[in-house]
Amino acid sequence: MSEDTKNPATLLVHAGRNPLDNYGVVNVPPYRASTILFSCLDELEGHDPEHRAPRYGRRSTPSSLAFEDAVAALEGGHRAVVASSGLAAVTTALLAYAEAGSHLLVADTVYGPSRDFCDKVLARLGVTIEYVDPLIGADIAHKLRPETTAILLESPGSLTFEVQDIPAIASAAHNKGVAVLVDSTWSAGICSKPLDLGADIVIHAATKYFVGHADATLGVIVGTREGWQRVKTTALQLGQNVGGDDLYLAMRGLRTLAARMARHQETALALGHWLKGRAEVRRVLHPAFPDCPGHETWKRDFTGSSGLFTVELTKQPRAAVAALVDGMEQFGMGFSWGGFESLILPTDPRNIRTATPWAGTGTLIRLHAGLEDADDLIRDLEKGFARMKGAA
Ligand SMILES: *Cc1c(COP(=O)(O)O)cnc(C)c1O
Repeated sequence: MSEDTKNPATLLVHAGRNPLDNYGVVNVPPYRASTILFSCLDELEGHDPEHRAPRYGRRSTPSSLAFEDAVAALEGGHRAVVASSGLAAVTTALLAYAEAGSHLLVADTVYGPSRDFCDKVLARLGVTIEYVDPLIGADIAHKLRPETTAILLESPGSLTFEVQDIPAIASAAHNKGVAVLVDSTWSAGICSKPLDLGADIVIHAATKYFVGHADATLGVIVGTREGWQRVKTTALQLGQNVGGDDLYLAMRGLRTLAARMARHQETALALGHWLKGRAEVRRVLHPAFPDCPGHETWKRDFTGSSGLFTVELTKQPRAAVAALVDGMEQFGMGFSWGGFESLILPTDPRNIRTATPWAGTGTLIRLHAGLEDADDLIRDLEKGFARMKGAA
């Protein structure tokens, strides 16, 4: 690939599609398939260790191959594997490295349901899970045991946005033959490239920015050659599959991803700067702000930021929080993020972490900056703070 097509904006316009393979039609159509016919016995019996030829709907289709190729190109990986949701991508990647008696290190700030899978399912299968400070960096070397097989990171961390030192962690891990898995949903393949930083596996909840319009859930995992082989094998064994229509939506999302991310970034920064000047705000937990743990690592390893961050307010009673969130006109309240709309969600990391108890005493509100006008969003927050004050 030539240098200019490595720019994500350019790459994403072309990746995973070849219109001349399809009557000149610009978009890869949604292939809906279970049965895929073979033309002859030789083809049926053909050996395809790279899983490039569609053989059965659950194994791969032209839709899944196209989306996987596009995301692998974006992340600079060998190949990708789709999964039925972002969580399924996390669990499939973890199962590819988990064995009875093995030990996994997990950043204390990973997505709650990822943690639940570790605690409830992997633990039941005889895997030891140890949570570590997301800011542990090179000191992770002291946590590695002979039976450690993998480290799961999520950078920045869910809810509190700690940026992790992937190069230092990967270097310690690789010295001992341990794989590094990174949930990079926040970066959406645009703000950071975990494989370039030393990770073996990158995981995305494609549900978020890749789909970008809040209308499908799916996941995708990208690996180095070795990592991909392992995860692909596990995904086949687990029966991971995504239908052609959801893959179509995800691929359509990818075409506009770079443009949307630039806008999400710009608006989130505008909101963050405005929030910093408010008396009711203690800290802006956004990797691009010095308040955020790991901000220096973000400056070194990331090329930008996305639209999701948390703000720590002065401690507010529940009635005041309700007055804030219940009356918003632009911000919706709901789970997920990465779509075109702005979202607001009260959040509390206290019951989720174990290795690094949350020391903050303020009220945490997670915001997703959508594609609306930033000034309209600021006005909405300003009115919200006035309601909050009135109810405190
Ligand atoms: C949302 C999310 C997931 C899970 O994605 P789903 O498609 O909802 O299963 C995983 N990791 C992170 C960081 C997420 O934000």
